[in-house]
Amino acid sequence: MQDNIRWNPNFDEKAYIGATALKQGEDAYIRNAFNQAECDKLPTDRGVPDTRDYSCRSLEYKHKLPTTSVIITFHNEARSALLRTIRSVLNRSPSELLKEIILVDDFSDNANDGRLLKILPKVKTLRNNKREGLIRSRVRGADLAKGDVLTFLDSHCEVNERWLEPLLSRVAQNETIVVSPIIDVIHMDTFNYIGSSADLKGGFGWNLNFKWDSMTSEEQSQRAAHPTRPIKTPMIAGGLFSISKNWFIKSGKYDMGMDVWGGENLEISLRIWMCGGSLEIVPCSRVGHVFRKRHPYTFPGGGGFVFAKNTRRAAEAWMDGYAKFYYKREPGARGVPYGDISDRLKLREKLKCRSFKWYMRNVYPELNVPEGVNDKFGELRQGGKCLDSIGGKPGDRVSTFPCHGGGGNQAWDMTKDKIRNNFIQRCLTISSSGEIVADPCEDDNEKQIWQLKES
Ligand code: UDP
Ligand code: MN
Repeated sequence: MQDNIRWNPNFDEKAYIGATALKQGEDAYIRNAFNQAECDKLPTDRGVPDTRDYSCRSLEYKHKLPTTSVIITFHNEARSALLRTIRSVLNRSPSELLKEIILVDDFSDNANDGRLLKILPKVKTLRNNKREGLIRSRVRGADLAKGDVLTFLDSHCEVNERWLEPLLSRVAQNETIVVSPIIDVIHMDTFNYIGSSADLKGGFGWNLNFKWDSMTSEEQSQRAAHPTRPIKTPMIAGGLFSISKNWFIKSGKYDMGMDVWGGENLEISLRIWMCGGSLEIVPCSRVGHVFRKRHPYTFPGGGGFVFAKNTRRAAEAWMDGYAKFYYKREPGARGVPYGDISDRLKLREKLKCRSFKWYMRNVYPELNVPEGVNDKFGELRQGGKCLDSIGGKPGDRVSTFPCHGGGGNQAWDMTKDKIRNNFIQRCLTISSSGEIVADPCEDDNEKQIWQLKES
């Protein structure tokens, strides 16, 4: 493939990647939680299938577009994955729009992971002298950025054909719109590049975890009629998006009290919507990302604890009284200290942001507030044992386990007539053989109807 921006021929890619190759007999998943053998083997400038809707190909961007700084933070990323991310950006971004690529090494074990990349075109490298987590690392990168727009990427992505122009063009129309590409899947085992559905939006349930929601059928037909149009989304996945640098600063960057990973996407999503901006998915921009099942890195402070702390900070700052539904769903979070959020509250006042109720009504009407009979959350307890959804594959029997008090598989809520586990998004169902299983919730499935008797 032709490099769009001239590659540095003095960069010894083989040596760079080879230095951290898998050792004989080493488990290929151990370091990165994805298949490093496959990742190392593939060319760093491989082509990927053009997964855009056909009508995206004829779009032209006539007006002068703003420039962007691409900001990539990483902690112990596989060198081949990081390099492929950078190279795809260099190959598939117009040189005049790409101001720079800022790499923020979040205190990886090996300082050469980032340092050796300094000689690549447009690349600038920074290194934290202690682990800051992705939130403060991104802000550090953003503070240095010279582009008009900031574009954040994870360190294991591959951008697709003309990924950048539609994002920048949308921000140029209105700087308060924060835009995400459609996030395609780079398979964690095979590294195949797989197109994702364009009929999804970002959302969350009361555990405040990000999830993909299907569009309503009305939205889907709108989309089919206008496949290149941006789609409003209540939440962004958080790793891949563009935002005007001005608006990033004015709207409050990120919550600097959040550590390691998580919660920041909820915070920025609520804040942008409530404080006068909006979030959109731009379907003509496609970027692949390696989704994985666990975090390969350490969580100083403990995984569940850090996530609960960050999420509490977001909930306490932006969700008004509705945070209680989160605590009902995740009782374990209630005891986690979340520190001082007074600067977020001041920001909220300064920007005259709207209420969470406004957000629910106008941005995310699909988020149902549990009320009345619906307001039944928590464990289903028998002595010291709790009903547990266990694995959560459709058809799996549910069973009882010692209560762990941490929500998740043991947290149930009673909607009008269903008993639902939001963690695995399944409902208690009577199977044909009369067992109780957890199956996908369906609107008119009689086998999922339960009644609550006060006695
Ligand atoms: N990251 C970081 N510091 C951390 C944790 C993560 O710089 O303490 C980086 C990580 O290398 C990746 C990005 O932040 O580039 C997002 O993390 P990850 O991919 O693990 O999150 P996921 O995509 O699974 O939500
Ligand atoms: Mn990621």
